[in-house]
Amino acid sequence: MTTLTKTEGEKAPTGPDSFLSVRDLRVRFSTEDGIVKAVDGLSFDVERGKTLGIVGESGSGKSVTNLTVLGLHNPKTSTVEGEILLEGQDLVTTPEKEMEKLRGNKVAMIFQDPLTALSPYYTVGRQIAEPYMKHTGASKKEARDRAIEMLTKVGIPQPKTRVDDYPHQFSGGMRQRAMIAMALVCDPDLLIADEPTTALDVTVQAQILDLLKDLQQEFGSAIIFITHDLGVISDMADDLLVMYSGRAVERGSVREVLRAPRHPYTWGLLSSMPRLGGSTSQPLMPIPGSPPSLLNPPSGCPFHPRCTFKDQVSGDRCSTERPALGEGRASACHLTAEQKQTIFIDTIQPRLR
Ligand code: SF4
Repeated sequence: MTTLTKTEGEKAPTGPDSFLSVRDLRVRFSTEDGIVKAVDGLSFDVERGKTLGIVGESGSGKSVTNLTVLGLHNPKTSTVEGEILLEGQDLVTTPEKEMEKLRGNKVAMIFQDPLTALSPYYTVGRQIAEPYMKHTGASKKEARDRAIEMLTKVGIPQPKTRVDDYPHQFSGGMRQRAMIAMALVCDPDLLIADEPTTALDVTVQAQILDLLKDLQQEFGSAIIFITHDLGVISDMADDLLVMYSGRAVERGSVREVLRAPRHPYTWGLLSSMPRLGGSTSQPLMPIPGSPPSLLNPPSGCPFHPRCTFKDQVSGDRCSTERPALGEGRASACHLTAEQKQTIFIDTIQPRLR
């Protein structure tokens, strides 16, 4: 199981199995209107061979977190604090030249839209072969053979011929497969997949997810899987981090979080999501309001302007006191454990049937 055991904001040494350990990460952007707190004190660990799912609405900080792990933030307009330890090496302080060597080699990313990652001017084979040559010193012939091997692995038919095709000659699903081949060509230890199947139809989506699982078994990579789709995450991830307003609000194993969620925001996400085989008499319940401004986040619990359970917390704690995320299986909310259990059983669970 992916270990998610340290308190948010805590600076802790990397665990024995932890391949990636993020500690108290803070990412801020300077804008004309002020400072945007895109990530605000985030900690998590990912083990080799395991998948951590990160879910949350747009603007929750999930994509910024992962671009920062890859060192793809703009240092002129953003500041990064905290630690991103990759096998003990802190990527926050690693020079860009060294990050370039790590990217594509040790850490790789699969984007939502393959057209942002694939150049229309070069053949698919060349785009898979080039990072392989760069990172391994392989010859042109060896790299081409490797590109064909990777296209075969990701299920592209007639790979020896299709290796010379341009991206526009591939279908959407094939381009996504080609991008996966490109990301995995150097056997990265950490793969970040940012909404990798959102643009695809359901059948192709299922094929791509199966492919990722198979390749993870073969390569033993750790995967961070970013999505807003809890259905996909239940199939893909070992552990889950729910993000809101640049912070983690709930974490635990996927099974624990999806079977017995403890945070009102997670309840909202689950209640607003269509369920396969769910009762058609239960209407979907969207979360009221909209995500908070990261320029001027709400005081206290950042979810309080949208939370329908805040009246059950005594006094004005929800609007004045920021709830902390405890250790291990945890949720950042002032409701007591008993209140969370009662609300879930009496109010939320019936909605999910
Ligand atoms: Fe809702 Fe209060 Fe819990 Fe925040 S701390 S999620 S406002 S009950």
